[in-house]
Amino acid sequence: NEAARQKILPMRSMGRGTGEAGGGGDSEAGAARHPLHHPADGPPPPAARGEDLVLADPIEIDLTGYAGVVVSPGVPLNRHPIAGHAASFGVPVISDIELFAQARASLPAHKVVGITGTNGKSTTTALIAHILETAGVPTLMGGNIGLPILGRDPLPAGGVYVLELSSYQIDITQSLDCDVAVLTNITPDHLDRYDGFAGYAASKLRLFTMQGKGISVIAGDDEPSVEIINALRNRPIHPASLSWATTEQGEQRPVISRVEMGRVMRVMSSSLQGQENWPALQGPHNAQNAALAIETCRLLGLSYSQIDQGLRSYPGLPHRMQRVAEKRGVLFVNDSKATNATATAPALGAYPKIHWILGGLPKTDDLDDCAPWFGHVVAGYTIGQAGPMFARILREAGKPVTESGTLDQAVADAAAAARPGEVVMLSPACASFDQFSDYEARGDAFRRAVEGLPL
Ligand code: ADP
Repeated sequence: NEAARQKILPMRSMGRGTGEAGGGGDSEAGAARHPLHHPADGPPPPAARGEDLVLADPIEIDLTGYAGVVVSPGVPLNRHPIAGHAASFGVPVISDIELFAQARASLPAHKVVGITGTNGKSTTTALIAHILETAGVPTLMGGNIGLPILGRDPLPAGGVYVLELSSYQIDITQSLDCDVAVLTNITPDHLDRYDGFAGYAASKLRLFTMQGKGISVIAGDDEPSVEIINALRNRPIHPASLSWATTEQGEQRPVISRVEMGRVMRVMSSSLQGQENWPALQGPHNAQNAALAIETCRLLGLSYSQIDQGLRSYPGLPHRMQRVAEKRGVLFVNDSKATNATATAPALGAYPKIHWILGGLPKTDDLDDCAPWFGHVVAGYTIGQAGPMFARILREAGKPVTESGTLDQAVADAAAAARPGEVVMLSPACASFDQFSDYEARGDAFRRAVEGLPL
């Protein structure tokens, strides 16, 4: 009956989240250990029944008549028995984003922007939302960032929902038709939950194949992203990439590549200032994030001068190359969110003289992605499990290394060595779980340690 068909069973990972806002992101989860509750783990928590809430082991619930099982993206479906249990009842496993997608028909006229990629999702999402808000567009940011989208009041007509989507979220979303779908980049990450890299890339691809008439904005700066562009041939794709050109007056101006009428056009707008005027968007990786945001906002009808205003006033996100303090002429930067070497590499590219605090729970046994930027590293200060391994790699590259062990000690060691004009940066290239509850706790500890330094 109708009432039974409307039943939807919410389910959360019984263990910890993935260490990311909203859960289930692409960054730390690869190294997370989720103590999932399973019958083999012992008795389930006592069932409790309220007006509209049932607490029980999901594997023991009779799913007959349910329309779906809403799963947190933190639940690894390749290992958790809920997937097989739901399938045995013919019930789909879905995300809160899928519920949102299904409810869209009843919302006032709106647009949806979905952002995915290995790195830069949160920055690009927050940046797009900020530019839109600055231009006076009613905007809601959600998905893998901030508060769940379903708990918020719908936007008035003309609003834009800006959703950060991890590949895990996309895997359990079946009908999200984004007006603009954005891909930042694809590099190996989270292969533990996918059948190899191809499976991970295929998961990202689905955000675009779910689109109806929408436009795909793809940076296309790495091979797998180019493969996705090729796989989407015959669909409207805007490869948005930022490069720089010098004007006749000798000023640097951003040049955006995009496709119009099947041809790649390079656009330079005098309304767009150079990256040096966007204080929270330093580094080559942020040029990529900015290009994607510029193109997306242009597609949503904003002018370049409106977009530039947002780029200039964007405050940045905590733990992503966040300027924490300047003491005795030394800048302290918290990039705790860089939980893999690919994410750390561009952070090293952003400053020329860096005292680099790195280490934690390693995801790889090399720093190959960072090696091109070793010239920017004045010295390394290693912490956590990966400390000895990273110390060896840096020493082999001819860099002075202090094996500080703990973050507090590393901050003290780096601060003592840094000279005015240099930067002390925590960009660990590792997950945090060996020493911290998550990357946010690690970044907060860095900030406290910096604040505790003598002026
Ligand atoms: P995500 O949400 O995908 O994890 P964030 O925007 O939170 O990405 O950034 C996480 C870290 O990744 C940052 O601290 C930064 O060092 C790095 N990063 C940000 N944008 C990019 C990018 N476009 N390419 C590569 N690395 C990036």
